[in-house]
Amino acid sequence: MYSVKVLGPRLTHLLLRKTFFEHFCAGESSQDILPKMRELQKYNVGGILDYAAEAKDGELPETVKPIDEEETVGAPLSSRSYDYESEALCDARAQIFRVAVRGVKDTIPDGFAAIKLSGLGNPVLLERMSTCLAEVCRLYKRLAHEDINPNENYYMIDRSFKIDLETFKTGWLKMFEGKSEDELKAMFDAMDDNHDGYISYLEWSSGVKLSEINEMVRGCKHQGRLFQAALNEEEVKLYRNMLKRVQGILDLAQELGVRVMIDAEWTDIQPAIDHITIFMQRIYNKGELPIVFNTYQTYLKGMPTRVQRDLDRSRREGWRFGAKLVRGAYMVSERQKASQRGLESPICETYEETEENFHQAIDCILAHGEDKTEASPGGAAAEVLVASHNRHSVERTIQKMTEMGVAQDRVGFGQLMGMADHLTYTLARYGYRSYKYVPYGPVDEVVPYLIRRTQASETG
Ligand SMILES: Cc1cc2nc3c(=O)[nH]c(=O)nc-3n(C[C@H](O)[C@H](O)[C@H](O)COP(=O)(O)OP(=O)(O)OC[C@H]3O[C@@H](n4cnc5c(N)ncnc54)[C@H](O)[C@@H]3O)c2cc1C
Repeated sequence: MYSVKVLGPRLTHLLLRKTFFEHFCAGESSQDILPKMRELQKYNVGGILDYAAEAKDGELPETVKPIDEEETVGAPLSSRSYDYESEALCDARAQIFRVAVRGVKDTIPDGFAAIKLSGLGNPVLLERMSTCLAEVCRLYKRLAHEDINPNENYYMIDRSFKIDLETFKTGWLKMFEGKSEDELKAMFDAMDDNHDGYISYLEWSSGVKLSEINEMVRGCKHQGRLFQAALNEEEVKLYRNMLKRVQGILDLAQELGVRVMIDAEWTDIQPAIDHITIFMQRIYNKGELPIVFNTYQTYLKGMPTRVQRDLDRSRREGWRFGAKLVRGAYMVSERQKASQRGLESPICETYEETEENFHQAIDCILAHGEDKTEASPGGAAAEVLVASHNRHSVERTIQKMTEMGVAQDRVGFGQLMGMADHLTYTLARYGYRSYKYVPYGPVDEVVPYLIRRTQASETG
């Protein structure tokens, strides 16, 4: 940083603390933030406690490089190098997130704790998992279609079709060996949850386990992309360690009745984040209170379809859907990366398209009301936090809530601390569930995080 060179680290730290940091951040430790949380409560505003520990996009270890440039789509395949230090750091952060959960319980029980999965698992592993998940999705398409475009944007891949037994068997035998007709039929039946004679993408994606892909690819006829993408044994072990960290936080959250939001990050690692989040929602959102909220970035092309898919998934699997909707904070770097890799950008081409996605996704969730024709709690209404500083989007949501008769307790609104206070406090005054995102953490870690999020809101 330029000021570190000119002023030195101590003076820079002091300067940042007294200016930017004190305006946008509640403090350096979970103890510092308690007065801020109590202050919010006086105005009926809830808090979302956000320890700003995250890995930064573009700061992966040097060892991460493409195995084969030609064959690589999306994130480069990593060299699978993991160190003990980053595991210890993740353990330490898990402990900090647990303290944050307790902090919410002690100050604003109706509030949320926010966590970033890139702080709880090595981003190299999250990239590898994401590449593997993208290949599993392509495999679904390849089973039913002769040709697929291997460069197709993961978020845009059509998954709306279903596969019957014959198509499944023929597609499978083209790519894998070592399974008899009877074994393939047994595999198909195990995935066909509703016994309608077809596998849908939802059935496929819950039937294929990341930890089992390694086993599955041993039968690959060609050592292509899926073969390369499969997690090895060490990675499966690290993945399980990461799940344990997340579950340690969520067990405590469930015990204390505190809800947890999982932040959305950049697209090279986001499929893994979504995968883990849905895995956790299946476990922790079965009761009256949905404990885990996923985050959907609507600047991504095709996002309303994905929101609808997860709404359907929650109803089919019997858990309560809870989500934070944002426009998205990594627009510039996402576009740069796509252009460097010669791929279509995953980001909407215009602000208006992002806005249209944002509003469509909100409408889908509002429309997902209680449905008592199915067994409870699967038939429960979906909850959403509209996280935006955009007054028009907030007003439009309220108008839709009125038109559709949506209860106020299903919808919350969130703004970052130090931004759009007029919206937060007005919403609270009129009885809407209104929240401030309250970042805290060491100055050196929080400041880059805040710069990214505040810059993002100036782009629109
Ligand atoms: C409570 C809270 C939690 C948040 N959590 C997350 C999170 O977990 N993950 C995350 O990524 N972000 C998160 N953000 C940041 C968020 O994604 C936005 O970057 C920020 O809120 C600005 O969007 P807006 O709706 O407030 O404002 P607006 O000014 O209406 O929108 C600006 C946004 O529009 C989009 N945009 C701007 N120009 C274009 C263009 N030319 N083409 C396409 N799209 C464009 C970009 O996403 C930009 O950030 C959070 C924000 C809040 C308030």
